[in-house]
Amino acid sequence: MKILVIGGAGYIGSHVARMLADKGNKVSIIDNLSTGTEENLFADYDFYKGDILDYSWLVSIIKHGFDAIVHLAAAKAAGESMIRPEKYATQNLTGTINILNSVVEAGIPLIVFSSSAAIYGEPKYLPIDEAHPKEPTNFYGFTKLEIEHLLEWYDRLKGIKFAALRYFNAAGYDIEGRIQGLEKNPANLVPVIMEVAAGMRPRLEIFGTDYPTPDGTGVRDYIHVTDLAEAHCAALSHLAEARQSFAVNLGSERGLSVLEILQAARRITGRSIPVSTVGRRPGDPAKLIASSAAAKRLLGWKAKYSDVDTIIATSWRVYEKHLA
Ligand code: UDP
Repeated sequence: MKILVIGGAGYIGSHVARMLADKGNKVSIIDNLSTGTEENLFADYDFYKGDILDYSWLVSIIKHGFDAIVHLAAAKAAGESMIRPEKYATQNLTGTINILNSVVEAGIPLIVFSSSAAIYGEPKYLPIDEAHPKEPTNFYGFTKLEIEHLLEWYDRLKGIKFAALRYFNAAGYDIEGRIQGLEKNPANLVPVIMEVAAGMRPRLEIFGTDYPTPDGTGVRDYIHVTDLAEAHCAALSHLAEARQSFAVNLGSERGLSVLEILQAARRITGRSIPVSTVGRRPGDPAKLIASSAAAKRLLGWKAKYSDVDTIIATSWRVYEKHLA
């Protein structure tokens, strides 16, 4: 297939693009390189540098005749979204509306969209399945939920078939070590810990130690980015065959606390990783754990690389190399 990966120079997009190309697809990438990096681009891709907010430019690229779009271009820091909602409204909502409208103009029938566990908000029960109430507690999650609603309407009105992949906490780096680009100004736990271990920032701030969890810190379901890349490939194949839209959770179905991740990172990197405890981050739920039963059933997918040691070891390999 000819596939356009929007946001393909970014952290998750680069892993998805590499695996799609490995499986014999012709991959083109759109990225504005605001958070993505050229280091993540490979010689077998066609690369178009530009912004999804530039509608006429976007249409001119999308009209090149693609079979499917993978859309991962978004701002993703939940904490920042509570302080700068305008940025998230524009980049995530306006950006996606531009993509959807240009996809309609170009007549592309299939979209794989990066959704998020943040659409669910504070869990009413665990593990979280796809039927769980959707009441986001941060603005980032609100934008992802609104985009799922837009996709449902564009399916009904324009026949666009979509896969909404609700990632839990993406972490780790390419199992084969090919993706080398560091995230710029990361806010997520694992890259922040890696930056501290590598001496790029002074300490990890732990956002709250008074959650109703065993050690008081936030519990999340961490999913290895290579597992996510495999899920995108499986989702695209399923979509192309069944021509029916769907939404699935992608998680490891296991919870890890901030302190558990920290301990694994100290052990694997051999670095001390200083910490300080600060207050809770607004909009952060205490505990998120996925049920990925639907992804298993529909796509035959399950997490293979999402144990904490593989997540930390594949991340540290990349950060350590940059240090060297
Ligand atoms: N966290 C933290 N310090 C940081 C970043 C994250 O204590 O610098 C915690 C956060 O409160 C949550 C977990 O780590 O419990 C995962 O946060 P992240 O931002 O990676 O993902 P989120 O679950 O918010 O999407």
